[in-house]
Amino acid sequence: MITSVTPLAMKSKRPEFRLQQFRNKGNRMNVDKFSLMGQKLTAHSGIMELMDDLGRALTIEPHMRMLAGGNPAAVPEMQRMIRQRMDEMLQQGDVFDRMLSNYDPPRGNPRFIQALADLLRKQYGWDIGPENIAITNGAQSASFVLLNLLGGRFEGGKCRRVLFPQTPEYIGYCDQILEAGTFIASRPEIEWPFGREKRIFKYRVDFDSVEQIIEREDVGALTFSRPTNPTGNVLTDDEVQRLSKLTADRDIPLIIDSAYGCPFPNVMFAEAEPHWAPHVILMMSLSKLGLPGTRTGIIVAPEPIAAGISSCTAIIGLANGNLGQQLTLPWIEDGSILKFGPEILRPFYEAKSHLASQWTSEFFNGAGIDWAMHVSEGAFFHWLWFPGLRITSKELYQRLKKRNVLTVPGEYFFYGLEEDWPHRHECLRVNYSGDPEAVREGLKIIAEEVAIIQS
Ligand code: PLP
Repeated sequence: MITSVTPLAMKSKRPEFRLQQFRNKGNRMNVDKFSLMGQKLTAHSGIMELMDDLGRALTIEPHMRMLAGGNPAAVPEMQRMIRQRMDEMLQQGDVFDRMLSNYDPPRGNPRFIQALADLLRKQYGWDIGPENIAITNGAQSASFVLLNLLGGRFEGGKCRRVLFPQTPEYIGYCDQILEAGTFIASRPEIEWPFGREKRIFKYRVDFDSVEQIIEREDVGALTFSRPTNPTGNVLTDDEVQRLSKLTADRDIPLIIDSAYGCPFPNVMFAEAEPHWAPHVILMMSLSKLGLPGTRTGIIVAPEPIAAGISSCTAIIGLANGNLGQQLTLPWIEDGSILKFGPEILRPFYEAKSHLASQWTSEFFNGAGIDWAMHVSEGAFFHWLWFPGLRITSKELYQRLKKRNVLTVPGEYFFYGLEEDWPHRHECLRVNYSGDPEAVREGLKIIAEEVAIIQS
């Protein structure tokens, strides 16, 4: 049963979210006709706002300084290789025509899946075969299916929770669960690895709190992204091993969202090993490699879970888009996909992160405001914290938007918390990977605006 759907009348005032009514052959029809699930999925959400901002800035609002969204940057070397692969496919007999004119099986392209299982087994010694892999239409679709397979209402009416061992977490999960009240999150500990005066902090998993929740609740899955979107945190190998043991001992599936992480695309600046075990569900994606348009998610999971995902794909969408799998197949077969992170993506994004950090220090210190930033260990984001901010970060986001700077307010990333926490209203996510001029100007405007608010 789906409960607690926010009334549609309370949604954002933006015209695209005013969904109370739609026209049907000239008649007005109330949206009350949507099921509870329909209302949940059409309600205003952070991810909808974010993707709408992103899509507009990339099409009809180019004057916006785009520091929101998770779009990968245009990485010239990747773009060159992708174009070359497309050319090859067009030249290779009927490869291109067969790709576009045939459905793949719901699990994904058999050759791609076999090649990936071989690569992961050979490279990391994981005991997996094609039966452990399922392709989805993007990792976003995969998490929707997984969270609802493992969390929510079960036989006998009992609700199994999905536990996020470290909040803040990826905005994209927030509205995916159909059963209200399924998510539960644990607050992290905050460390200052270089001393408070350096203004760099790092979230660490609070294991006491995680263990208490696991003891108290019926937990159906534990989930984290690594690197974490929004913070750029990379949970250490030690933290991952401890979470893995904690869940394995209790037969709880552990979902590791590696959309930015290892084995690929590996947009990580901290040293960390990929992790898989028989109870682990590893989520990967081709998006951050530079292929978000192909919508290719990859799941490496226990056999029944991979099979379950394939069944859901068949029912929801028949099959997956196959372009991404065909484009990257030779890179999976020869293992070169594992080198793109260290050799191309890491240097590219790390340089951008450094530059943006310098601008942040220059402008924020210059404005005389209190600020801090999460240590940047991967992904495309800087996570800014303004201790004691006098307005909410949602209000800050609105003020910045009026000045043509798009960011993502921190509140959206703190779902599942059972108590309020001032920190959740004091943070802002900025994507540092876009046009350098826009990032520089955007950071300058953020500093100015926060200085006005705090004065
Ligand atoms: N997981 C995380 C942490 C993400 O940041 C994203 C997208 O930004 C996704 C999953 C979904 O990626 P996609 O659906 O493009 O594969």
